[in-house]
Amino acid sequence: MKPRIVKANQGTTKLATADKFVGKVLHDQIFVPEDPSRLRVSRVTFTPGGRTNWHSHAVGQVLYVLSGVGRYQLDGEAVQEILAGDTVIIPPNARHWHGAAPDQMMCHLALSESDDTGAATDWLEPVSEAAYTAPTA
Ligand code: MN
Repeated sequence: MKPRIVKANQGTTKLATADKFVGKVLHDQIFVPEDPSRLRVSRVTFTPGGRTNWHSHAVGQVLYVLSGVGRYQLDGEAVQEILAGDTVIIPPNARHWHGAAPDQMMCHLALSESDDTGAATDWLEPVSEAAYTAPTA
């Protein structure tokens, strides 16, 4: 890991892949793991209706909402609204999803690490329209 500043005009915004997300979702890579760090940081922008599939993280995840209005659900719990400035702390191996509100965008930083075996995120099935549009808690 060498000291440097990665300038904002570096890198390319990518469209998130349809096998892991529903709707139009934009991904900007902020940091990928560099030995000895296992940290991965992404900025993810979900357009209205956009969301992740159900998934889990081997050692958990922290989300920091930068802008907009979003939704988050831990399996077995009600959907929760998340707003700019909110921090979502997701424990290891917990099934969940996150995304925009149905009618507003949401942008978050996603911070996660891999475990000792290199495992990081386990991607599962899409979030159904019924689950996504359920009333928020
Ligand atoms: Mn997650």
